[in-house]
Amino acid sequence: MSNTYENFIDGKWTSSGKYYDIHNPADYDEIIGRFPLSEPRDTDAAVLAAHKAFLTWSRLLPMERAQYVERFVALLDEKTNYLGECLCMEQGKPLAEAVGEPSRGVKECRYVIGEATRLQGISLPSERQGVTNTVVREPIGVVAAITPWNFPLLTPLRKMIPALVAGCTVVLKPSSDTPWCSVLLLELIEKAGFPSGVVNLIIGRGSEIGDTLCGNPLVRGITFTGSTVVGRRINKIGAEHFVKVQLEMGGKNPAIVYDYADIKTAAKSIAAAAFANAGQRCTAVSRVLVKRQQAEELEQAIVAICKEYKLGPGLEKGTTIGPVVNKKAGDSIMGYIQKAREQGAYIAVGGNRLSGGVYDKGFYIEPTLITGVTADMSVAREEIFGPVLTVQRVDSFEEALEVANSSEYGLASCVFTDIQANIYTFMRESQSGMVHINHGSVSESFMPFGGIKMSGLGPFSIGTTNKDFFTNLKVIYNQYI
Ligand code: NAD
Repeated sequence: MSNTYENFIDGKWTSSGKYYDIHNPADYDEIIGRFPLSEPRDTDAAVLAAHKAFLTWSRLLPMERAQYVERFVALLDEKTNYLGECLCMEQGKPLAEAVGEPSRGVKECRYVIGEATRLQGISLPSERQGVTNTVVREPIGVVAAITPWNFPLLTPLRKMIPALVAGCTVVLKPSSDTPWCSVLLLELIEKAGFPSGVVNLIIGRGSEIGDTLCGNPLVRGITFTGSTVVGRRINKIGAEHFVKVQLEMGGKNPAIVYDYADIKTAAKSIAAAAFANAGQRCTAVSRVLVKRQQAEELEQAIVAICKEYKLGPGLEKGTTIGPVVNKKAGDSIMGYIQKAREQGAYIAVGGNRLSGGVYDKGFYIEPTLITGVTADMSVAREEIFGPVLTVQRVDSFEEALEVANSSEYGLASCVFTDIQANIYTFMRESQSGMVHINHGSVSESFMPFGGIKMSGLGPFSIGTTNKDFFTNLKVIYNQYI
């Protein structure tokens, strides 16, 4: 008999009584738990609770708010192994990666706690005698935090914690595919003793409660991570209400390999960036643009690496790639591989869904390298969000850059080259929010994170840039004489 979980609204675990089941992606027969299928009225109740709590929470000293967060982070830190195991069961990634998520969260949160003392404004000399001119930061109000399934612990933390430190209150709406991780986080919020209504959790389908949440006039900021399609919809609703939006969306991240001597190292970095979390990362490298003369060596090196991955349930020792999150995602990925075949590309390694034994209990897709790819193919243009990497051969660095930039996305990009001039050109010309030179698309805990074009809008998250989203500026002229 599985557990039944609830929303967390105004300090109470509650729901309107309709539920759905979440299954383990490594074993579809195992039910992780029953979760509420919230309705618009539940969402309104959560927003109202956050609105009421804002009046007192926003007036605490930043250091007082930080003390609550410190208690929460200490609890999080104690539980990283347990949380990692739960995450693994709910989302499917290998245990080591799963445990890495709350651990990374702890690091990010600790940095953000320090931001409580760095919510600085500006002070400028006045044009008039007896006047001081200052600019201060104020929390924006109730924040709706909407998160995807691929990093179900880290993304809620990345939104909730900077919001709280800045003085905002929060309504968290996690992906309906991975609500358990958010329930576990809210249990820690409750244990840390946050006042009622400061953090609220609402679980349900985005298609049923998303518009109500984003359109509620008491919501003053929407921080969203997810697909570009949903981001666009949220942006329209936000614009109608003049609400701040922070959108982190899809990617089609390129890695250029051009005149780089150490092809083996490049292959290793690219494979790690492509196949971690079974390729279900917004910043996953998904297309390689390689100098024609270096292509064969690079392709062979990546093929060799792909053959070493061990697919299996995330909790099983030795697993390096878990199942993809669900059948719908698996079918979509397999559809892309099939289309690439039909369009004339070559599957250099992988390309199959595994079957037999444990593999029949989930959706396991081999790490796949597709070569002979041309710019017009779907796999070269669209976000696949699975363990699939493509290779396109190019004849000049300029051509590589042009193809890299031809995407409508602009999240992360990589270049592997020994030529200084190429490095400078890439740093300047690459159309993406995050640029990596001679390593894969791996971000760090204190560096701003975000994208441009169809990958992102609004201030970047993580690090110092968050306060540009979670605070408004107020300009104060004070005549003191
Ligand atoms: P998704 O857009 O389907 O869902 C994201 C969230 O939006 C979920 O909580 C969902 O319930 C909610 N939602 C759906 N419809 C809504 C609506 N009408 N109003 C409000 N909310 C709604 O994305 P997903 O499948 O969960 O995640 C995968 C996508 O997320 C990929 O495109 C990936 O690139 C992107 N992603 C981006 C980043 C980044 O930082 N740029 C990070 C992780 C994932």
